[in-house]
Amino acid sequence: MSFYAPKISSRPKRSEIPSGELCSHCNGKCCRYIALPIDKPTTYEEFDYVRWYILHDKTAVFVENGDWFLLVNTPCKELGPDNRCMIYEKRPQICREYSTEKCEYDDLFVFEQYFETPDQVEEYAEAVLGPRPGADFRTPRPAVKLPLV
Ligand code: SF4
Ligand code: SF4
Repeated sequence: MSFYAPKISSRPKRSEIPSGELCSHCNGKCCRYIALPIDKPTTYEEFDYVRWYILHDKTAVFVENGDWFLLVNTPCKELGPDNRCMIYEKRPQICREYSTEKCEYDDLFVFEQYFETPDQVEEYAEAVLGPRPGADFRTPRPAVKLPLV
């Protein structure tokens, strides 16, 4: 799995860390990706959108508690080399609302489903929907026109 997952075994357990010091033992795990809710795909056309998402670099799609999310696996530009926020006073509201109480400090990032290649989406769509009527995700590559000389 390509999701950013530092070695948890090398870090103290959450229960061993005094309250308020958790982030000092973390490498800014929650600042290294964004996850956006997406509609659960139910048709071939919608699965094709999912394929399109993860054809892009550093993306994946995961399912948690039945909800589908697009994951963009890239760190925030304001995460400093010390793994702390460089704009703490001006950080976005979503960052302010996030707390260490239920954060992913010790999450293993095991999801119900995790798609990181277009082929995985294609296979899953075929398993759920059956063979695609009339066509599949593949279409012939367009002929390349050579320049006239
Ligand atoms: S809130 Fe949790 S995941 Fe985010 S940096 Fe702090 S300990 Fe790490
Ligand atoms: S703004 Fe700060 S707290 Fe928010 S994701 Fe970026 S580094 Fe993390």
